[in-house]
Amino acid sequence: MKMKVYVTRRIPEIGLKILREYCEVIYRDELAPPTRKELLDNIKDVDAIYCTLNERIDREVIDSSPRLKVVGTMSVGVDHIDIDYATSKGVYIVYTPGVLTETTADLAFALILSTARRVVETDRIIREGKWKLAWAPTMMLGYEVYGKTLGIIGLGRIGAAVARRAKGFRMKILYYDKIRREDLERELEIEFREIDDLLRESDFISIHVPLTNETRHLIGERELRLMKPTAILVNTSRGPVVDEKALVKALREGWIAGAGLDVFEEEPLPPTSPLIEMPNTVLTPHIGSATYDTRNRMAQYAAEGIIKVLKGEEPENLYNREVVKIRPLTKLID
Ligand code: NAD
Repeated sequence: MKMKVYVTRRIPEIGLKILREYCEVIYRDELAPPTRKELLDNIKDVDAIYCTLNERIDREVIDSSPRLKVVGTMSVGVDHIDIDYATSKGVYIVYTPGVLTETTADLAFALILSTARRVVETDRIIREGKWKLAWAPTMMLGYEVYGKTLGIIGLGRIGAAVARRAKGFRMKILYYDKIRREDLERELEIEFREIDDLLRESDFISIHVPLTNETRHLIGERELRLMKPTAILVNTSRGPVVDEKALVKALREGWIAGAGLDVFEEEPLPPTSPLIEMPNTVLTPHIGSATYDTRNRMAQYAAEGIIKVLKGEEPENLYNREVVKIRPLTKLID
C-alpha cells in the first residue's frame, strides 16, 4: 500500500510531482491555509503532513494522526511545530534550511535601504500628485547606509548572508548571537557585542534569530530605548521577536528613526495597526523567501525530505535529529 501524505495548501508543482511519485497525495489545492477542523479531519490516517508556517502542528494534531511518521514544513522556521512533543512521539520533522538564505538576506537589505532612503514614502508622494518642487536642498532627507554600522542579531545562515552584503557597502559590522562565531568573525571581519552594546552602537539593526521562548520579545521597550534616535530596525525573522506595542511607541516618540518589517506579531497585519499610518516604516507581507526560484527550491526540499523519511533514509534537512533514537528509521517502514 502506498504511503499517504496530506498537503495542506497549494504548493509549487515540483513539490507535488516528487510526492506523487512515491505517495498517495491528498492535495488541498487552495491558496489559504486550512481551518483547524479541516486540518484535523484530513490527517487521521496519513503517514505524512506537508505543511507551511501557518498551520499549527501541536499535540492535538500529532495525537489525531496515529500513523504520522513525518511532518515536512516549507519553511526554515519551525516555531509553529511542537518539536519536543513530535520528537517524543517519534515524528520526524523536515524543514527547508539554506535554500532561502540569500533571498531572505536580499529582502533584509532591501528593507535597510528602502527605510533609510524613504523609497516607499517618496514613491507614494509622486503617485499622490504631491511632488511639487523639482529639487530642494532639505527635501526628503534620509540616512546613509554606506560606511555606517550594522548590528546583526542572530548570526546564522541568513544573518551571515546579510553581513556579506553589508561588506559591499563598507559597513562596520557587529553581531550578537548566543553562540560566538569566531570563524565568521575572521572571515567577515565582524565583531561580537553583547546585545545592549550592539543596540547602542548600531545605525541599523537586522534581526535573524528563530522564534523561541528565549527570543520572544527579545527587543522590547528597554532595548529600543538603548538604540540611537537615528537608528533603523529591520525584522525579517518572526514578528513576536519584537514587542510591537513598544516598537510603535518608539517610532511615535522618536526613540528610533524607522523600521523595516516583513513579519508581525499578528499576520496578516490588522488594518488598524498604527504601523500602517507611520511614514517611517516600510512594511512587507512576510515575503522574505518569496521568489519563484526559492519557493520552488523550498517545495522540492520539503518534499524530498518527506520521501526520504518514508523510505527509511535520514534526510539532511531533518530538524529533530534526536528522533532517530526514539523511533529508528527502520521502525518507520515496518
Ligand atoms: P539559523 O538557525 O541559521 O540562524 C539563527 C541564529 O540565531 C543562530 O546563529 C543561533 O545561534 C541564533 N540564536 C538562536 N537563539 C538565540 C538567542 N536566544 N539569542 C541569540 N541568538 C540566538 O537560521 P536562519 O536560516 O538564518 O533563519 C533565521 C530565522 O529567520 C528563521 O528561524 C525564520 O524564523 C526566519 N525566516 C524568515 C523568513 C521570512 O520570510 N521573513 C524567511 C526565512 C527565515
